[in-house]
Amino acid sequence: MRVFLTFIALFFTTPVMAEHHEAAPVTIVIHGGAGALAPGRYSPEQEAVFRDKLSEALNAGYEILDNGGAALDAVEAAIVLMEDAPMFNAGKGAVFTREGKNELDSSIMDGATLNAGAVAGVTRVKNPIKLARAVMEKSEHVMFARDGAEKFAKENGLEMVKPGYFKTPERWARYKKALKAEKEKEKDASLSHDFKYGTVGAVALDANGNLAAGTSTGGMMMKKYGRVGDTPIIGAGTFADNKSCAVSSTGWGEYFIRLTIARDICAQVEYQGKSVEEAANDVIHHRLQDMGADGGVIVLGPDGSYAMTFNSKGMFRGVKNADTEQVAIYGEGEEE
Ligand code: ASP
Repeated sequence: MRVFLTFIALFFTTPVMAEHHEAAPVTIVIHGGAGALAPGRYSPEQEAVFRDKLSEALNAGYEILDNGGAALDAVEAAIVLMEDAPMFNAGKGAVFTREGKNELDSSIMDGATLNAGAVAGVTRVKNPIKLARAVMEKSEHVMFARDGAEKFAKENGLEMVKPGYFKTPERWARYKKALKAEKEKEKDASLSHDFKYGTVGAVALDANGNLAAGTSTGGMMMKKYGRVGDTPIIGAGTFADNKSCAVSSTGWGEYFIRLTIARDICAQVEYQGKSVEEAANDVIHHRLQDMGADGGVIVLGPDGSYAMTFNSKGMFRGVKNADTEQVAIYGEGEEE
């Protein structure tokens, strides 16, 4: 009896451990493409336009996180803003294929469930990142391409536009110049890494500790018919797993696919216990560099640690958390 009473007493006096989770340090990191961005590449006015748009995208995503919203929503909101902005190579303002078309690729991934959605070669969907998300949430598949992707977009009520919507005079002029240069040199300039990239991407960590990543692009200028880059390839252009990290890539897609850049970074974090910065450095400054290719990544860990790593001259980028808000274009030490 005494034992029983002791048990009862213990039962009622032992405090029930409340399920208590510290809120994760909400963070968003974005990029607007990597490339030949040395100081002096843009006028101060042009730089201001880029910086303002990066800040706008950063804050749109951060506000969602700060109000307790989901990482996926923050990633989508930041990317939609950059897709709609003509200065980035995604959505409006996308680069042209050799045939003078805009063919858009995009993907998104949920680090909590490993669900993912991707689209390749779409020409009439205003916001490819929204379509990638619809693929993730409303289909049993991971990736749709071209006509099928557009059929799915229409069936799911996404905003459709005429292909001409994506065309801007600046991009068209660059395309014409590239065509001319190609003719003069009589060589195939299709995947010259001299072309400036301008893909957009975002990674976010919400208060519940969930990570998400997304990327959207017009691809590489002068790409051939039907060429698909790394952006819609899960594990190359985009990857997110709450157990390791979230990554969005930008750069010479053919190499990012071969090296499965995004997944490699997260695998190094997960299996080798590296910090996101160490893993990003290894992949960008060694593996990618050794193959003679260039580009960059943004990486975010479940603890809020992040990296913005590139081996090109510059990368449009930004980060915001409770302690910091910054946007940058050029390499470290080169900011004016
Ligand atoms: N990675 C993209 C592609 O190869 C291009 C870019 O990031 O600018 O399609």
